[in-house]
Formats: sequence, structure tokens, C-alpha cells
Amino acid sequence: RETIDKIAAGEVVERPKSVVKELVENSIDSGATAITVEIKEGGISLIRITDNGSGIKKSDIPIAFLRHSTSKIKTAEDLLSVSSLGFRGEALSSISAIARVELITKTYDDLTGTRYIIEGSKEISNTEIGAPEGTTFIVKDIFFNTPARRKFLKSPTTEGNYIADVVEKLALSHPDISFKFISNNKTKLHTSGNSNIKDLVYQIYGREIASSLIDVEVETPLFKINGFLGKPIITRGNRNYENYFINGRYIKSSLLSKSIEDGYKNYLMQHQYPFTLLYFDFEGSMIDVNVHPTKMELRFSHNEEIYQQLYDIVFDKLSNREL
Ligand code: ADP
Ligand code: MG
Repeated sequence: RETIDKIAAGEVVERPKSVVKELVENSIDSGATAITVEIKEGGISLIRITDNGSGIKKSDIPIAFLRHSTSKIKTAEDLLSVSSLGFRGEALSSISAIARVELITKTYDDLTGTRYIIEGSKEISNTEIGAPEGTTFIVKDIFFNTPARRKFLKSPTTEGNYIADVVEKLALSHPDISFKFISNNKTKLHTSGNSNIKDLVYQIYGREIASSLIDVEVETPLFKINGFLGKPIITRGNRNYENYFINGRYIKSSLLSKSIEDGYKNYLMQHQYPFTLLYFDFEGSMIDVNVHPTKMELRFSHNEEIYQQLYDIVFDKLSNREL
């Protein structure tokens, strides 16, 4: 089991940021309203994720670390229409195969909490402990038992930046959850969880962007959008400032990017990569999800119509605004 788990783990855990993403998604799925992500040395030596969600029932704990064990299995098509982010049941088994994992968790119904330690897929201990409701995962020494993979990690600074990015996208996807991100004992991000998206933009992107947002709230026969377009003056070299969320999930889509950039281009008479923060609601049937453990490829039906409608929306919004 150990070897198979290690191989499977490679699919899910590429680097520390994958651990953060999977564990935070689990916290979100657990109904948490506050999530703290703490890392040391870019997550290579330590990742600690604490949530105030449902907790894991004592009797379910060892099972949760088995491969393909999920309490939320749904079909892949459901992925974008249901609230739960996890569905493969691979994260905990993969992470525990390649790191030292400590779990402290308590549900509302259990009288005491549990402290469970598993390292390289081997259960080390399972004891009772006093704990608040919710879950804490501590993940240490990523790839301690696969030195070849450990060598492929970048510097702690770079790995830490990847994690900061992931936490920002997760915070933006869930303005209703309070996120705290601490790196090497310094708080880097703390969102209120009160759904004020402009505040979030301010915290993550700073005043210049936050003070030049164009509101978008549009409903078409194909989709609903709300969010913001950035003022079209700041030049950027890439799509890093384009944020698209579909049904609560951060995604990248060349169709969405292209149509929006073309809308800007039509207005500006030159190409630029804008700041965008757009939350889309699509009917599940309009999207084809090709699921791979680490990335999500989206395909839309009605490509041409989506392109045209977005393009028009952007051009209208920019034209109606006094700049
Ligand atoms: P998946 O998320 O695909 O179901 P995971 O391996 O990520 O699979 O998690 C396995 C199971 O462990 C989940 O289905 C869930 O029941 C439980 N779990 C993991 N993390 C948490 C958490 N933070 N709070 C509550 N339950 C959790
Ligand atoms: Mg999961």
C-alpha cells in the first residue's frame, strides 16, 4: 500500500501549495467560517491549517486517510454545481504518504477530541485530546521519504509565494469565510469573512486597484456575472491579475480571458491584460469538466455566444464609465 500511495501521491501533491489547496478545500467543505493557514519555510518544513468546521468523527478518522475514501463522493459532472470542492478522496491519503501528518479534530457530537499521527502512510498514534470543535492539520517535512521529489522543490521564498497565491485565490473565491495567512510568524493576509469584496481587493491588491473598480452585475440567457473590472490604464505583462470564478471555484479559461481582453482592446484600441474579479454562475449543463487531480480543464458549450456576450459587456462597461 505504501508504494502505491506514494505514486498516487505524486499526482495530487506536487509541492507544498498543493497540500495547502487540498486541506483548505476540505476546510471549506466542512462548513468552516474561519480558516488559518500557517507555514514555515515556504511550507516545506511546516504547514498548519486550522478550521472551525464540522470536525471528523472519531470513528471516521483512520478511514479518511485511505485512498478513494471520501464522505462526499459525487459524479464529476456535479463538480461545478455542488458546493463541495473535494470529490476524489485522494488528498489525505496522498499527503500522509509523503509527509508527517498530525491531525487534531473534534466534532460537535464527540465528547473529546482526537489526536491522530500518520507518517508515510503509517499510523503512529491515535489518542484522545481536549480540542475545540473543528480541525487542525499539521503537515511536516514534505517528501521526507521521497528525496528525489524533495530536490525538485524551489526555494522556501518561491514555494511560500506559490502558497500566498493559492490562499489569495481561495480567499477571493469565498468572501464569506475569514482567512488568515501567516508565513514565518508574520501575518500576511487576514480577511474579515463579511463578504465585502472591495475590502478583499484592497487587502490583496492594494489601494490603486481597489479604488478604480467598475461594478459588473449582469444577467444574460447563458450566465450571470457579478464582480469588477479594473480601470483600463495599468499595463501588465500577463494574466496574473485576471480572476475568474465559476460557481465558486477559481478557474483559468482562455475563452473568458480572450473575450474580455478583446473587449478592453476594442475600447482602448490596444491590447492589455486587465485586472478582473468576476464571479460567474453557469448552468452545469453548459460546462464540460475534464477532471485531472491537479488542474481543471473547462470546456463550454456555446463558445461563440459566450465570447460575444462577454466582449459586449466589457465594451459597454468601459464606454459608460467616465475615466
Ligand atoms: P475528499 O475531500 O475528496 O472527500 P480527502 O482525502 O480530501 O477527500 O478527505 C477525506 C475525508 O476526510 C473527507 O471526505 C472528509 O470527510 C474528511 N475531512 C478532511 N478534512 C476535513 C476537515 N477539515 N473537516 C472535516 N472533515 C474533513
Ligand atoms: Mg478533499
